[in-house]
Amino acid sequence: MKQPVLEIKNLNVDYGLGDNAVHAVREVHLTLHKGEVLGLAGESGSGKSTLAYGLTRLLPPPGIVAGGQVLYHAPSGDVVDVLRLSDSELRAFRWSEVSIVFQGAMNSLNPVHKVSTQLMDVIKAHEPGLSRDARLARARELLKLVGISADRLDSYPHQLSGGMRQRVMIGMALALEPQVVIMDEPTTALDVVMQRQILRQLVDLRERLGFSVIFITHDLSLLVEFSDRIAIMYGGRIVEEAEAHEIYRNPLHPYSEGLLRSFPALRGPKREVKGIAGSPPDLRSMPSGCSFHPRCPRAFEPCPDVLPILGPPDGYTLDTRTVACHLHPATIAVGAKEPVG
Ligand code: ATP
Ligand code: SF4
Repeated sequence: MKQPVLEIKNLNVDYGLGDNAVHAVREVHLTLHKGEVLGLAGESGSGKSTLAYGLTRLLPPPGIVAGGQVLYHAPSGDVVDVLRLSDSELRAFRWSEVSIVFQGAMNSLNPVHKVSTQLMDVIKAHEPGLSRDARLARARELLKLVGISADRLDSYPHQLSGGMRQRVMIGMALALEPQVVIMDEPTTALDVVMQRQILRQLVDLRERLGFSVIFITHDLSLLVEFSDRIAIMYGGRIVEEAEAHEIYRNPLHPYSEGLLRSFPALRGPKREVKGIAGSPPDLRSMPSGCSFHPRCPRAFEPCPDVLPILGPPDGYTLDTRTVACHLHPATIAVGAKEPVG
């Protein structure tokens, strides 16, 4: 039985207020289960980072959560409504329950402090009672965990390679043994081999330590390789969510298919690599109906007028696969209690 660790319900995030608001995340429902890697894919501007910042309440102004719920299931069995936590509760919650590795995180290490100091500071902030020796031992352990030898504790960030700095950041994110780690394009600044090495290691650690991961990238090939499930975003909405291998073998949404065709086949027969025609929508003037319709090679009569409902297509349930496309009409909408119609 899969246990939810994070439930996002009908989350809406805007930049700005009133008529000028840009709706960057719309009606997002997502469930992350214990021990699962959930990949979030979509072109630049589809709302992936906004979703991650929204759910952890780290949105830069003028970003605001305009509605929805984020429920965190603590190991104790308590359910925490993240959007209602006070500032001090939120500080305790981040790092220890949910931690985040941001885009370009490897450049956010403080250049004037040794690696040991930075790791120990994170531990100290949350466990002030721990002795210096205990913190140092923990920092050493963390480095080992992410594949860096303990003699690097005395290094300054500039003495480490990009890959090592990124590993340190991942070690830091794991310092307080969180249940959930959110990785926003964690490895894009690294070469492909290093990216894969680090992600492989993270997935191995997840199996050993039992945390769950939300992994954000525009590179669907990485997601297919490392995720259990994948959610695809377009124009701020989830347009398809399924097991990674199902998305890879049989994408149902034409946008998912387009994203998959944008990189070479991982295995099996070679196929033509082809980008998606046109550009992502302008969130200030979204196309009517299905927002993908101006770019969709399979658009038909209802597409420009009617917004497709996200829900399970024929043969699937809400828990197994959802898609928002008139080619695969849903029998029930995600988040709804009653079947469509
Ligand atoms: P990328 O892969 O480039 O990071 P993304 O899918 O993570 O893209 P977001 O960064 O979440 O997308 O951006 C979603 C949309 O929100 C973008 O279209 C952008 O125009 C808008 N947006 C982001 N930050 C702001 C801001 N500070 N003010 C107004 N709009 C913003
Ligand atoms: Fe294409 Fe229509 Fe499906 Fe949108 S609803 S993806 S336009 S076929």
